[in-house]
Amino acid sequence: MDTARALKDIGIGVLRAGLWKPRTHPGSFEGVGEQGLAWLLKAREELGLRICTEVVSARHVQECLRCGVDLLWIGARTTGNPFLVQEIADTLSGHDIPVLVKNPLNPDLDLWIGALERLSRAGVRKLGVVLRGFSSRDSIAYRNDPGWKLAIDLRTRYPEMAFFVDPSHMAGERRYIRELSQRAMDLGLDGLMIESHCCPEKAWSDASQQLTPQALKELLEGLVVRKTSSESLSYKESIEALRARIDVIDEDLLRLLRDRMEISRQVAACKREHNVAILQAERWEHVLESALESGRELGLSEAAVRAIMTAIHEESVRVQKLSL
Ligand code: PEP
Ligand code: MN
Repeated sequence: MDTARALKDIGIGVLRAGLWKPRTHPGSFEGVGEQGLAWLLKAREELGLRICTEVVSARHVQECLRCGVDLLWIGARTTGNPFLVQEIADTLSGHDIPVLVKNPLNPDLDLWIGALERLSRAGVRKLGVVLRGFSSRDSIAYRNDPGWKLAIDLRTRYPEMAFFVDPSHMAGERRYIRELSQRAMDLGLDGLMIESHCCPEKAWSDASQQLTPQALKELLEGLVVRKTSSESLSYKESIEALRARIDVIDEDLLRLLRDRMEISRQVAACKREHNVAILQAERWEHVLESALESGRELGLSEAAVRAIMTAIHEESVRVQKLSL
């Protein structure tokens, strides 16, 4: 109630609180369960907040419908399970409650869309999505790979669907929440689902990503939000959205380059072991030829492909020499 009251005071309208929490490790706090419904109802009654919780099974949905919860979400661990999603969808059939579907743990757009289709076929009309990032084995600062590119693909396919971002679970740590939230706004997405706790060090789950309501207020005030209604979609706004997409692609390009250089180092080790010279003219000719051919097929100019591949090759040779 302390957290809820403080959130209400900073102008938040919807209280998200997970009552049933599927957790990665047994023994982690798995939520208070059904008894928490009464607490959510109390927060709504006393503070006028709309209330939202995660459902994992038909029984959870029934309980929430019985209590008149305002909004439901399906968590990342559930979205990837078609049987559970179907069970939830069947139970929701004939009801008008809005449902948000988080992305599955792995970056599988079809699995995510499949969950949306199951709900939609069951008659759920108020559907939205929440991007919470994807499990990743890459060494990245955030706990999850945000997956902006996939988000853009989904947005392009379903431009009308409400699209939220959960920077808390993406980041895993509070210091990254601001930049991820701004990124979501720059991409023109619709809103944010952020975890907040009146006393983060005492939170029973994800303590390091909790913001106090005061910190949340400061973060929200600092965000630059573009207007997206069609009348105000000026040149500047659309160019910003396009640039945000370019930034996402540039990040991917750089990550690929890093992976490529890493393999170059391994190649250097292999050459060293077999006592082979670093620069091998035929290999480079072959690399360039096949890049030029792919470039032609992709409609890229020959001059550009040649210049880019030459720069990459030079860097690769430099990296290989360094690792000798
Ligand atoms: C949550 O929203 O509290 C949660 C557990 O998130 P996710 O399903 O994205 O891991
Ligand atoms: Mn959480």
